Amino acid sequence: MSARRCDAVVVGGGLAGITAALDLAAAGARVTLVERRRRLGGLTWSFPHAGRSVDNGQHVFLRCCRAYLGFLSRIGSSGDVELQPRMEITAVRPAPVPGGTPTRGTLRRNRLPAPLQLGGSLLRYPLMSLSERLGVGRAVLALLRAGGDGADLDRETFAAWLARHGQGPGAIDALWDLITVATINLPSREASAAAAAMVFRTGLLEDPTAADIGWSRVPLGTLHGERAAATLERAGVTVRLGETAHCLTARGSGETGARFELQCEGGSVGSDLAVVAVAHTAVGALLPPGSLTDQDRLERLGTSAIVNVHVVYDRPVTDLPLLAGVGSPLQWVFDRTGSSGLAGAGQYLAVSLSAADHLVGRHPEVITAEVLPELEALLPEARGARVLDTLVTKERTATFRAAPGSTALRPGPSTALAGLAVAGAWTATGWPATMEGAVRSGHAAAEAVLGTPDRHLPTEEVA
Ligand SMILES: Cc1cc2nc3c(=O)[nH]c(=O)nc-3n(C[C@H](O)[C@H](O)[C@H](O)COP(=O)(O)OP(=O)(O)OC[C@H]3O[C@@H](n4cnc5c(N)ncnc54)[C@H](O)[C@@H]3O)c2cc1C
Repeated sequence: MSARRCDAVVVGGGLAGITAALDLAAAGARVTLVERRRRLGGLTWSFPHAGRSVDNGQHVFLRCCRAYLGFLSRIGSSGDVELQPRMEITAVRPAPVPGGTPTRGTLRRNRLPAPLQLGGSLLRYPLMSLSERLGVGRAVLALLRAGGDGADLDRETFAAWLARHGQGPGAIDALWDLITVATINLPSREASAAAAAMVFRTGLLEDPTAADIGWSRVPLGTLHGERAAATLERAGVTVRLGETAHCLTARGSGETGARFELQCEGGSVGSDLAVVAVAHTAVGALLPPGSLTDQDRLERLGTSAIVNVHVVYDRPVTDLPLLAGVGSPLQWVFDRTGSSGLAGAGQYLAVSLSAADHLVGRHPEVITAEVLPELEALLPEARGARVLDTLVTKERTATFRAAPGSTALRPGPSTALAGLAVAGAWTATGWPATMEGAVRSGHAAAEAVLGTPDRHLPTEEVA
């Protein structure tokens, strides 16, 4: 007896490509994954620096990221993440005078059903005036009512939408932008109202547990890249690292659809199915001409940067695992002491600066010089501490730009060619550019190529 197997090639070893490769292998395909870097994990990676492991940028997820949590379980990493039992965010506003005591507020969910789970802590939240706090309900009700496909919402910025629903600059700064900047990678004044509405609905308005925050207890490179490499190997996927794919060509398209030839640095790979899971800025150069209709739309999707400033103090300066800045240029601060493997009595904080296009061209020393006093303004304990080390990491093209109009620019997984799909956090997943979106897109792409008529696995004779 001989089994018949189909060949599949996946380009890109980020979360989307890894997911697609594992799905295709699980369906019985003989899969080759081609990744241009010498590691897997894509935009989630780590590197050694001064005796500790630095992540390229702090990554968090929410309990509602079910596809991502499934991914972690699939690669054996579920035990290495922390997930808050109940969502809790401490927000800190610097004192109006240097050296003063900052104001702290906590947003913590109670046991009430959504959307009431934050009501109690919001009423006591000292970073907003009483009228701002009472006014939040109006926008929440409007978000619950704003249904449809989001096309209307995608025409305006979230700030314009919030203003129409009674939210002033104070409420936007102290509440709405805490979440919008971190999840959409743009502030409300630039973000699509459709993208932001999806985040608030999914995270806060439907399921009270959805916004419990999770993060890795180990370096990202271990959590994703290393574990995924072992899982792919067990699944029989051939992984070609350090191999840049140059272009994919389709060879004929008879009854059985096109066969593909991927030109790579180290030779070509032929396949029956292909998933291209690279960034939207790179996909056009790889795909066969005409396979994505309106390919120029991807250029209009644009990009948005994220910068992280890594600071090691000689002593602990906060006991919070994470905190958000309000009225501060510092958006989020994370304690990475344990996950980085930092030895000694010090504390390692990662300051995450989203929507950071204005920072990418600036010298790391200039950025650090601005960040350190702002950290002291948020964390008085840092004022007497010695800074042992600093480092700045910049990801210029961290995400696509979820500005008004961006929803219509994101293509689905299927292309004009049978057997060829695209994947990536930038595709039309309904989610912002997140790990959840990347994993969802990988599943969708594998499903798209496997579901293609005349593509039933297996298709090719092997001994
Ligand atoms: C600093 C930072 C912080 C972030 N924070 C969060 C967060 O807190 N929560 C969250 O959910 N998301 C966060 N994100 C977003 C998240 O990391 C991404 O959405 C997700 O990892 C994208 O995965 P992907 O597989 O779609 O794409 P990518 O990770 O970009 O993977 C594409 C892969 O294709 C490879 N490739 C490209 N061209 C070729 C070629 N020609 N040949 C072969 N290989 C090629 C690339 O090397 C890469 O490995 C953050 C991103 C950054 C940069």
